Amino acid sequence: MKREQKQMPTLLGVPLDVNSSYLRGPAGAPGKIREALRSDASNQWSELGIDVGAKDAVEDAGDLPLRNSREEVGRDFAEIERTVGDLVRKGRRPVSLGGDHSVTYPIVKAFASHYADLSIIHFDAHPDLYDEFEGSPVSHACPFARIMEKRLAKRLVQVGIRTLNQHQREQAEKFGVEIVQMSKLPAYERLKIRGPVYISFDLDVLDPAFAPGISHYEPGGMTVREAIAHLHAIEGTIVGADIVEYNPARDIAGMTATVAAKILKEILGKMIAEP
Ligand code: MN
Ligand code: MN
Repeated sequence: MKREQKQMPTLLGVPLDVNSSYLRGPAGAPGKIREALRSDASNQWSELGIDVGAKDAVEDAGDLPLRNSREEVGRDFAEIERTVGDLVRKGRRPVSLGGDHSVTYPIVKAFASHYADLSIIHFDAHPDLYDEFEGSPVSHACPFARIMEKRLAKRLVQVGIRTLNQHQREQAEKFGVEIVQMSKLPAYERLKIRGPVYISFDLDVLDPAFAPGISHYEPGGMTVREAIAHLHAIEGTIVGADIVEYNPARDIAGMTATVAAKILKEILGKMIAEP
């Protein structure tokens, strides 16, 4: 097998939204994001000069068959971890389309069993560091608490945060999380990382004016341009990524699906341009 093919970015739909605290909807996201990526309204060239729609540029593993019910979260998490783990062991670079942000925990678990020195760059309005949220330790408000307490990442750099409360500030301190609040951007220098990098992109890092198709509106966020500039500034080897929290039920004329597809295109372009 050719080296390039082996390291191919691989799309994986993760239609799970049962761990959302406020609104369901993100389970319907993967198909909509793919549709926007492949829409005739645009082409599939990333701004870095890579055609992510070219034959053999990106592989698509389809959507995971998840139950998406509260009773079977454990089974669904195991399925996510197993599938992502299989791809990583084959040398692929999985790019998962959520789903709510709870999916990042089983995904990163799979990466951590392969990469001992993983760094995570996490774009989000929220730190998602709650020890538990409304009685659930696997809520979409908790994945980075689970990841850090199990030491699945060497470093966690959070960008665009604008909802820090006392509890999450303490959690961040306890786990050594490097938080770059929205008010401190740009932060290009903070994204120069050695070794394997995983990107977790919660669409609510963007200002809701640009991305209304999300569940938790938090004004004062990034423009799409600021997000792309930060993605392009990342140094290190991008071994995988996720784009989460797109909620089609809240979208307006598919605007946010188009934004998610744009972010996806730039992440894929970056992965292919700098393997
Ligand atoms: Mn999040
Ligand atoms: Mn968020």
